[in-house]
Amino acid sequence: MCEGHDHKEQKRVNLATSVLAANDSLAQENRDIFKDMLVVNLVSSPGSGKTSILERSLLELRDEFSLAVIEGDVFTDRDAQRIKKTGVSVIQINTGGACHLDAKMIRKGVDQLDLDGVDLLFIENVGNLVCPAGFDLGEDFKVTVLSTTEGDDKPAKYPAMFKKSAAVLVNKVDLKEALEIDLKALDAELFEVSPQATVFHVSAKTGEGFAGWLDWLKAEIKKKQAIKLG
Ligand code: MG
Ligand code: ZN
Repeated sequence: MCEGHDHKEQKRVNLATSVLAANDSLAQENRDIFKDMLVVNLVSSPGSGKTSILERSLLELRDEFSLAVIEGDVFTDRDAQRIKKTGVSVIQINTGGACHLDAKMIRKGVDQLDLDGVDLLFIENVGNLVCPAGFDLGEDFKVTVLSTTEGDDKPAKYPAMFKKSAAVLVNKVDLKEALEIDLKALDAELFEVSPQATVFHVSAKTGEGFAGWLDWLKAEIKKKQAIKLG
């Protein structure tokens, strides 16, 4: 006998699979548009300090490189307003309820940005450690921000995101004494889940650790440009 529930479940799975397949093909088109620049998809849970990391990174990089930002949020343009103050060109995408950016939204955003000559495009994703892991936007890689205030269990609880990250920024390390967090234990957790990721301990507030992160990023920009020059 048919189990109605199983059919419904199968339909749901098929739908999710086709949504992701459609997204993947649009992401590939975005990747063609992005062939001359490095594109970083910045992900994290809400409140980890993505926008603060962006602000400081942009200020440090803007004299040397041509930069642009796509800001994703469910509602408001508050983060885009903050980025605008750095002088870097930015557009805001509101998902209007959706908890992640997808390749189609990025394509719309790209149409509103002048990307001519841009070396580095940052995409700040919606604060969410779950589904942004499944949605390719056409980026070169994901960078996950993890705040010391979130404790050390996030990599084990949200492994998909960490497994897909080229780098992890452990932010708010200026609070480590107050929080009594063991950064070595956190690094060990990260290494277990995402051995491929380069880990930086940073503070967007004090600038601690930014030299290492920015050197790594500059090397990635140059790698991408070397590919472009053939
Ligand atoms: Mg933000
Ligand atoms: Zn989502």
